[in-house]
Amino acid sequence: MAVLVTGGAGYIGSHMVLDLLEAGEEVVVVDNLSTGFRRAVPQEAAFVEGDVGDGALIARLMADYGVDAVIHFAGSIVVPDSVADPLGYYLNNTVNSRTLIAEAVRARVPHFIFSSTAAVYGIAREMPVGEDAPLQPISPYGTSKLMTEWMLRDTAIAHPLSYVALRYFNVAGADPKGRTGQSTPRATHLIKVACEAALGKRPGLEIYGRDYDTSDGTCIRDYIHVSDLIRAHGDALRHLRAGGDSAVLNCGYGHGASVLEVLDAVERAAGCTLDKRDAPRRPGDAPELIAGADRIREVLGWTPIHDDLDGIVSSALAWERKL
Ligand code: UDP
Repeated sequence: MAVLVTGGAGYIGSHMVLDLLEAGEEVVVVDNLSTGFRRAVPQEAAFVEGDVGDGALIARLMADYGVDAVIHFAGSIVVPDSVADPLGYYLNNTVNSRTLIAEAVRARVPHFIFSSTAAVYGIAREMPVGEDAPLQPISPYGTSKLMTEWMLRDTAIAHPLSYVALRYFNVAGADPKGRTGQSTPRATHLIKVACEAALGKRPGLEIYGRDYDTSDGTCIRDYIHVSDLIRAHGDALRHLRAGGDSAVLNCGYGHGASVLEVLDAVERAAGCTLDKRDAPRRPGDAPELIAGADRIREVLGWTPIHDDLDGIVSSALAWERKL
């Protein structure tokens, strides 16, 4: 029995691979290395450079390794890129996911865990946003992920496949043991950008909007430590293997921090003052995005252990120093 991890050479996937190996699982990684790194995958995992959309390759891996679960991270995640290249995003995130799901059905792989996103909600009317809120993505990225959720929903009705889709909020931080972290060049995510600025890898950073209707005028997000996110996947795998029902679950802490609070935390951790400039709002940014976070605790028994902004930022900074 083995777990097939797509995108296992990437930021979040590489944390998953370490966690699975520690749990004694056999792991096979498929990654096309478009944004991931071969060195992020430990030697103990089988690694195949290839594409999730290559059905013949996926079929061979499922048969050769006796895969009983797919954890599907591979995908494109840059929202503005998805606006500029919607068809590229639908190909990579939706069409290729369809191939992967189809091969799972054909090979009778019983379990599937999918990296979805809070972007499926678009600009939510109520905060925190629960799983039953209207699904109105405002970017091709969000739509491409939602379409995959729907393929899984319908497939699980027609075939013996159970799945968990986890809707990630703002994932940040790095492995507390310092073995992996976010290495993506030209990253746009706030904590990554601020850590780069704190270490002089970029001159400074911009604050996208200080005139939001929030406590300090900057946007609020639910930042979740990557290790807690990974533990949610481990919980999902146990849940499915124990015969649990398919589920779509938010993955966040249920509270948030503003851009200024994040930057304060980075300055505290790095012992420096960041060069911050005010900039206009970034198109498509919601003032606030906080997970309704009860269902994942009820369904999976998930209990976060890294719910601390200073800890998230320190781990991200420690990794950034190693790069
Ligand atoms: N942000 C910012 N400066 C940056 C990057 C991000 O002010 O250099 C803000 C962004 O406008 C948003 C928040 O930080 O309000 C989180 O953005 P990020 O891109 O990290 O994640 P998103 O919430 O867009 O998925």
